[in-house]
Amino acid sequence: MPGFEMFGDLERQEVNDVLNTGVLMRYGFDGMRQGHWKAKELESELQKQLNVKHVQVVNSGTSAVTMALAVAGVGAGDEVIMPCFTFVASFEAIMMLGAIPILVDIDDTLTLDIKAVEAAITSKTKAIMPVHMCGSMADLDALKAICDEHKLLLIEDACQAIGGTYKGKALGTYGDVGCFSFDYVKTVTCGEGGAVVTNNDDYHKNADHYSDHGHDHVGYDRGAEEHPFLGYNFRISELNAAVGLAQARRLPEFLEIQKKNYTILREALETIPQVHFRIVPDGGEESYAFLNFFLPDLEAARQAMTALKSAGIDGCFHYYDNNWHYVRKWDHLKQLKTLHPLSKELEAGLSYLKTKSFDQSDLYIGRNISCLIKMSWTEEQVHERAEKMKTAIASLF
Ligand SMILES: *Cc1c(COP(=O)(O)O)cnc(C)c1O
Repeated sequence: MPGFEMFGDLERQEVNDVLNTGVLMRYGFDGMRQGHWKAKELESELQKQLNVKHVQVVNSGTSAVTMALAVAGVGAGDEVIMPCFTFVASFEAIMMLGAIPILVDIDDTLTLDIKAVEAAITSKTKAIMPVHMCGSMADLDALKAICDEHKLLLIEDACQAIGGTYKGKALGTYGDVGCFSFDYVKTVTCGEGGAVVTNNDDYHKNADHYSDHGHDHVGYDRGAEEHPFLGYNFRISELNAAVGLAQARRLPEFLEIQKKNYTILREALETIPQVHFRIVPDGGEESYAFLNFFLPDLEAARQAMTALKSAGIDGCFHYYDNNWHYVRKWDHLKQLKTLHPLSKELEAGLSYLKTKSFDQSDLYIGRNISCLIKMSWTEEQVHERAEKMKTAIASLF
């Protein structure tokens, strides 16, 4: 996955354009910038690559998730259904808006379980937010049908899945609003950065204003711009956008490398009857950022992790025992350890987490191993890795 592996002359050239003019900000300074608009160019590049009408580039993926919800009107007291297997940013973004994250089980797609989503809908539900974890997607047709029936928003967190597709559409562009992260370990990196994508003109206008203190960006005098509504500062700097611009242009090349490396590893593990792979919904194609597979049980998965480590294989994660991505270790959320008081509504809305169990997810995450697909491996290294992984895992049975 990490685009940082591919940092080189193309990225340096874009950054140098910015350094040579000294215009580090994406708005204004038209004369000084000598025609360099890196954030705007990155937005056009992503529009083209993802085939989406609008892109607003921002300063992080977490900002992008927050904005995706905010621009569609999600706010205080609204419930947002999200998976219990994701990066912590998902609930952070929801809570930042005063909305209530409703965590539900995942299934063997490693994303939202459709039945669990249906069971979680209440009169306060405003949005469903699937997270396309580790390069593959939720069953978007099924989620869309639920959203249509209950008049809910479908917000896609595609931060880990740029380049994946579902029924011919880029992940992130299927729902009402989508978001991406370009942090340092994502497929495309800006160093830090993110993007909100949508085909909805109003949501895009909202994103444009909201990410810059509500500025309407009309005319050529920033100081004289109107503020139709309140906003914040989620702006990306031109330096970060410059890195992302070079990287985004290389996305097709990145995806090709990921697919090639993924396929070699997968074909090796497919020879082991006890190994099963993560389910990709019909009509979906992964971004191949990770190879995800299931062992027969938790114990086998733990043993496999030990065997992989002894074989010198790094970059494989057992999220059940990892404190970042799975609800089991989110004690700071369950105990509401915040620096500042939360609203009474949010506090009450989150009290279910003190008792709720996620048995079905425990089964899947307990058995799952997720291996990062790197782009800098040589073909020889991938084959060597595939053999080592196969031997290490087969040795357990
Ligand atoms: C990385 C990530 C984010 C947040 O992105 P940052 O750019 O690190 O803020 C949000 N959601 C998911 C699923 C992610 O993997």
